[in-house]
Amino acid sequence: MVNSVAQNVRQQMLATIDRTTWLEEPLRKKLLEKAQDIDFFCGYSDWIIDAKSLDDYYANFEVVDDELLNATTAAMREVVKKLYKGLTETRQLTTAVDLGFFAYDPFNNTVFFTIDQFQQPLFEPSFSKKFLYGGLGYVFGHEVTHAFDVLVRKWDKNGLPVIDWPPHSDEEYLKRVKCLTDQYSSKTLYGIHLSGNYTVQEDICDNNAVRLAYKAFKALELSSDPIFPGLNLTDDQTFFLSYSQKYCRKASEEFDTVTLKYYGDTHSPSPYRVNMTLSNYPAFAKAFNCPLGSPMNPVKKCAVWE
Ligand SMILES: [Zn+2]
Repeated sequence: MVNSVAQNVRQQMLATIDRTTWLEEPLRKKLLEKAQDIDFFCGYSDWIIDAKSLDDYYANFEVVDDELLNATTAAMREVVKKLYKGLTETRQLTTAVDLGFFAYDPFNNTVFFTIDQFQQPLFEPSFSKKFLYGGLGYVFGHEVTHAFDVLVRKWDKNGLPVIDWPPHSDEEYLKRVKCLTDQYSSKTLYGIHLSGNYTVQEDICDNNAVRLAYKAFKALELSSDPIFPGLNLTDDQTFFLSYSQKYCRKASEEFDTVTLKYYGDTHSPSPYRVNMTLSNYPAFAKAFNCPLGSPMNPVKKCAVWE
């Protein structure tokens, strides 16, 4: 079930690239190849439980008890070495081994995630499809979109920065990025402006992920999908509710202001991860009948991938 959500969402990324009119050939072909190649990896690689392989992998690491920077530099050295070497023959798990999250690794063109994520509120075998895609589908969509964010859109499926973006396609892409950065930067939380330039990577992914998940959900056969008793919501409304709930949180003003002032998070604050993303998506306005020009259905909308 989890795998089919991942595959269906990736399929929608392929469809998105395919119908994006401002992508010229052969750029489109290269991006399609990359999207087709994205792998999903849960858990850990076999080599990691082999002592010798692990020793080899960390052979050049100098770990000193009281010096985090040292270890981080050694880790970075390994990453750079790999980059120069090109594709590793076997895909090795480099991130998210024990961190308990989802991550896209551009060196391996792989979305990693750990098994502990598959519990409520993200996953439960009995979840209705609308709820599953609104949460888990969105998360996969977010990571898949990282393969096409500002930073690594020029990297090919082997993690090498060799995809050439012709001037017209490049210009169209960056125009859409600017729309997003300006939009997010114009918003405030507790009187502090968001930094659209700083969070743009994640904002690109948030905005596309909800689209990928929604389209994947709409492509399903839904006749037997259970509804929530007592909730007078349509399928589409439930999908968006599931998405929004992912960012339900309790945070103090102090936490938010410190995070914003000192760039503590590359993601936008949760209220904007929900409201901005959904107000940029016409399907949301349609699902909730938001009049054009209202806060959740502004006339000017932004998205890099549509
Ligand atoms: Zn992200």
